[in-house]
Amino acid sequence: MLHETANGVYCPDGDFHLDPWHPVPRAVITHAHGDHARSGNAAYLCAAPCAPLLQRRFGPDTPIQALAYGDSLTLGDVRVSFHPAGHILGSAQVRVEGKAGVWVLAGDYKRAADATCTEFEPVTCDTFVTESTFGLPIYRWEQTATVIAEILDWWDVNRQKALTSVLFCYTIGKAQRLLTELGPRIDRPVFVHGMMIPMIDAYRAAGVVMAPTVPLIDKPRGTSFAGELVLAPPSARGTPWMRRLGELSDGLASGLMRVRGVRRQRAYDRGFVLSDHADWPALLQTITETGAGRVLTTHGHAEPLARFLKSQGLDSGVIRTAWEGEGGGDDSE
Ligand SMILES: [Zn+2]
Ligand SMILES: [Zn+2]
Repeated sequence: MLHETANGVYCPDGDFHLDPWHPVPRAVITHAHGDHARSGNAAYLCAAPCAPLLQRRFGPDTPIQALAYGDSLTLGDVRVSFHPAGHILGSAQVRVEGKAGVWVLAGDYKRAADATCTEFEPVTCDTFVTESTFGLPIYRWEQTATVIAEILDWWDVNRQKALTSVLFCYTIGKAQRLLTELGPRIDRPVFVHGMMIPMIDAYRAAGVVMAPTVPLIDKPRGTSFAGELVLAPPSARGTPWMRRLGELSDGLASGLMRVRGVRRQRAYDRGFVLSDHADWPALLQTITETGAGRVLTTHGHAEPLARFLKSQGLDSGVIRTAWEGEGGGDDSE
């Protein structure tokens, strides 16, 4: 019912594409990350809490239709509905029901608790299309609270040395999740790079409660940020903007920090393994919970995951997409 085309995953029975990478007449969007939601489509359909994020990215006149989680819409010969994916605000699995049974394309998802978005909801289906960004047994995440404690310890040590703590993170989802986690644990505002502001505002407008933030740009030249915490997108690293920060220690918050080569190559002082994707146990748990007899994998370690599922007796294969790994292409990283 869903298959790959040059523009993206296509549903002929409903005549729409899912997260297309080239402009199409009708795009059904799982979430607002740059590799999944691209500009230039003639019409967009997404989950209700995703719509304001797309509007911020593509402009207020973008033709976006939104459905509440669980509501359905008939497109051609299929029924389409969105179900929470727990990845970022507004992220959704897309359920498509038609003559080929029930398909669910999960988009990006995670099972760890995240106060910035609705919790992942397993959806029973015949065919499940799963991401596999971290689809290898080596990927197992720590508890979020453990990672947040590591960040706070790092910030403390830096403060004692009068260093600025610069934490790089992606602008959609990760920044807001960090600010939500930090909020109850800190007694001062967090400084943010200008690129962070539109999406932080969008999350606040959606009712997500976060630590107070101050745009760094609001501070006069010469202000010292020694001892402060600054959030910035990875693309700001090494730019002249950094000169304002004085002596600093930097870190990256990403599931990618589990990958040793990446850590070395980018030479951050610290890596904090905080991912918005399912780790290996969560992928397998989710696949079981859907009850699907057929599982297609995409995005990341698709081949090894499909091979593993086959070895477990499931009908499995790979569906090729242009979706990227952790980070979602939401800035130039
Ligand atoms: Zn993605
Ligand atoms: Zn994503």
